[in-house]
Amino acid sequence: MRTYQFDVVIIGSGAGGGTLAYALAPTGRRLLVIERGQAVPSEPENWSPEAVWRDLRYRATDRWRDDRGDEFVPYTHYGIGGNTRYWGSVLYRLRREDFGTLAHVDGVSPAWPIGYDDLAPYYERAERLYQVHGAVGDDPTEPPREAYPHPPIPHTTDMTRIIDELRRLGLHPSPLPLGLIDPGTPGGCQLCNTCNSFPCRIDRKSDADVCCVRPALQHETVTLWTGALAHRLHTSPDGTRVEAVEVERAGERLRIEAPLIVVACGAVNSAALLLRSASPHHRHGLGNSSGLVGRRYMAHLATMMQGFHPLRKNSSVFQKTVAINDYYLRGPHSPFPLGQIQAQGRTHGVMAQVVGQTMVPGIPRWAYEAWVARGVDWLAMSEDLPHVDNRVTIDDDGRIRLSYRPNNVAAHDRLVGEARRLLRRLGFWVVVAHSHRNKNTTHQCGTLVFGHDPATSVLDPFCRSHDVPNLFVVDASFFPSSAAVNPGLTIIAQALRVADHLTSAGVGTAAAGVTATTVPQGTLR
Ligand SMILES: Cc1cc2nc3c(=O)[nH]c(=O)nc-3n(C[C@H](O)[C@H](O)[C@H](O)COP(=O)(O)OP(=O)(O)OC[C@H]3O[C@@H](n4cnc5c(N)ncnc54)[C@H](O)[C@@H]3O)c2cc1C
Repeated sequence: MRTYQFDVVIIGSGAGGGTLAYALAPTGRRLLVIERGQAVPSEPENWSPEAVWRDLRYRATDRWRDDRGDEFVPYTHYGIGGNTRYWGSVLYRLRREDFGTLAHVDGVSPAWPIGYDDLAPYYERAERLYQVHGAVGDDPTEPPREAYPHPPIPHTTDMTRIIDELRRLGLHPSPLPLGLIDPGTPGGCQLCNTCNSFPCRIDRKSDADVCCVRPALQHETVTLWTGALAHRLHTSPDGTRVEAVEVERAGERLRIEAPLIVVACGAVNSAALLLRSASPHHRHGLGNSSGLVGRRYMAHLATMMQGFHPLRKNSSVFQKTVAINDYYLRGPHSPFPLGQIQAQGRTHGVMAQVVGQTMVPGIPRWAYEAWVARGVDWLAMSEDLPHVDNRVTIDDDGRIRLSYRPNNVAAHDRLVGEARRLLRRLGFWVVVAHSHRNKNTTHQCGTLVFGHDPATSVLDPFCRSHDVPNLFVVDASFFPSSAAVNPGLTIIAQALRVADHLTSAGVGTAAAGVTATTVPQGTLR
């Protein structure tokens, strides 16, 4: 097997891995980013609802199994930038309360080993790096903070009318924080209706490829390998450190050695990689002395909702500019948190058809087009609670099995009920709701929880393995709780925090608790 050597290997180039590569690039260390997918080509299909929603052109092609062994297509993407290429770029900070224990209808959301104030400076940097647009003051759940780096995206006329009405109902609608590049300017983001779930053909959505991977590659010490799948991590004979990553690239198995190895494959694939890296010293998976690798998987409880009025055409193109956080910490008739309601990008006829035909077959496309032209789209999102039986495992044939039953369903049902009532009060005649339920892997997190105690967590508060000191995991895996806002900005902020920690401790040096590189770096041995 051919062997290469670098100072740092980062496996995965999404929100966590891409951001970490960006932050470590100026340190001059020889850094290799291993990415199983390819660059997303700039092509007309980027903005084609048929290509994205009917043909699943950019979706991962592997099939996972659920707890019953039934196959499903995970809602995830492989490629440079990971899932951020397809995200809606709603970039929220967690609320201060999310870092403490929080009682919910169905149980308790556990505390984080760090507080809001630990992450606040990194949130600020993350917002600058990903060019977040927003405004302070309207959101009742937002902790005191400095101004956003960019002003909020203006609401369309139709959304302004809805927001005025929401205020009259006593609610506090607030601008949705969005990472967009030069919106509304020539050459900037066009504020189009193909943002969430589509890759941006003109690279004006703030994603990990555009904001981080490409700038990182300007440094000659940074190398990116695409089409490179990490199969397993190999430890030293005594099991105390990771020595190498075994990678498959262009049909060849390669061994990549580095004193510092960072796993950033996304919450499901990172857990899978550690489980696949079992060895005599780590029988139940690498870094798994707690038994928690792969466990406590979470995903938000999310329901797409559409208010429909037969006589009102929705003239908005970019309508995803507002959120309602009034029920985030407690519901109107309940002392418990319910979650968030946020405006969504416009539903296209084909998207509605793909979902609708699974429920009522035979409805023609024009009917869906007429329907969505008169609809306003929303997302109701509630916190999922961790449970040890919600977990990633590896089947005997090597396939991923995701055993998952959502928690906190009662709170989510109440949130959907409140959203439905609100939409009816706004004058919509019909409200339709759809949820992917336990197959929605877009906000996956929590499979390698961070904490102070090695008995109850996999990673320490800087995302370093408790068991293997030169192994870090920098992606959505570390979340002890899922909160009820989108996870991306928190993944990015923590990646910047880990980068600072690695840099101040001396990346790839004995000071970081890892062995110094003594051979020419990035070389073939
Ligand atoms: C349609 C959609 C919309 C979303 N909208 C939002 C939003 O508006 N706001 C928000 O905050 N979040 C949003 N999310 C979620 C957000 O994209 C994820 O939370 C975030 O990207 C997770 O970051 P990550 O670093 O954990 O993983 P990812 O970004 O998924 O990156 C993981 C990377 O690792 C690579 N990889 C995996 N396994 C291997 C392997 N074995 N070897 C080599 N490479 C590997 C993958 O190809 C991928 O590039 C959305 C997600 C989707 C799918």
